[in-house]
Amino acid sequence: MRFNFFNMIKPKTREEIELMRESALVVSKTLGMLAKEVKPGVTTLFLDKLAEEFIREQGAIPGFLGLYDFPNTLCVSPNSQVVHGIPNNEPLKEGDIVSIDCGAIKHDFYGDHAYTFAVGEIAPEVQKLLDVTKESLYIGIREFKVNNRVGDVGFAIQNFCEKHGYGVVRELVGHGLGKTMHEDPEMPNYGRRGRGKKFIEGMVVAIEPMINMGTKDIRQHKDGWTITTLDNKPSAHFEHDVAIVNGKPELLSTFQYIYDALGIKSDEEKEFRNV
Ligand code: MG
Ligand code: MG
Repeated sequence: MRFNFFNMIKPKTREEIELMRESALVVSKTLGMLAKEVKPGVTTLFLDKLAEEFIREQGAIPGFLGLYDFPNTLCVSPNSQVVHGIPNNEPLKEGDIVSIDCGAIKHDFYGDHAYTFAVGEIAPEVQKLLDVTKESLYIGIREFKVNNRVGDVGFAIQNFCEKHGYGVVRELVGHGLGKTMHEDPEMPNYGRRGRGKKFIEGMVVAIEPMINMGTKDIRQHKDGWTITTLDNKPSAHFEHDVAIVNGKPELLSTFQYIYDALGIKSDEEKEFRNV
């Protein structure tokens, strides 16, 4: 599915970017809280309830609930589900992966980011899919800078993931972010260098590679939401909110709360911190 965007890039002021950082961090903290809860036996509906309460406790509003009539706070997409999975009473199992995408509104601005979690021990080839997808996110973010173009980000992500033999989903894309969830420009995870809209100071976007272990092709379920890989192989999704500050990419969201919860050491975000 593609969304209707305002056909106009709306750069944010420094003050607005700081407010957007707060919105992004509500989501980052929510994902960090969920990191400890994702384990075999837990239902995705339980995770959804925890997330809704946690977001409201932070003085924010769940960003997905009711948006385009989506019924829940989280999009929870296990295994072969790519995105937009609806939380349900199916328990997660040892060896699953689960992509959790979360949105929150604070100060009228949206935060929107996502992480794919391992449920217990997972197969090495599935871990590799997660690692490559997350790395492709940073490879894409590195290209999000003044005077580069939309196609530079897409090309970088596509090129890296296809070298690993993975499928890059075409039908779903990243997007500009602000007081609406999906703003101009669309940010595909594929593309050609030097093509598409030019990046400018103050832009804020969600970059979100959705990468399949097998075919790039997907299908939509009858529920009108859930997207699954056509070959039923696993899919991973990592998303950050990023602003252009002083010409360079500056992360507004962070996976650090997740890493703190799981005891993971990482300095992957360091190069994207201007402040
Ligand atoms: Mg998202
Ligand atoms: Mg998004």
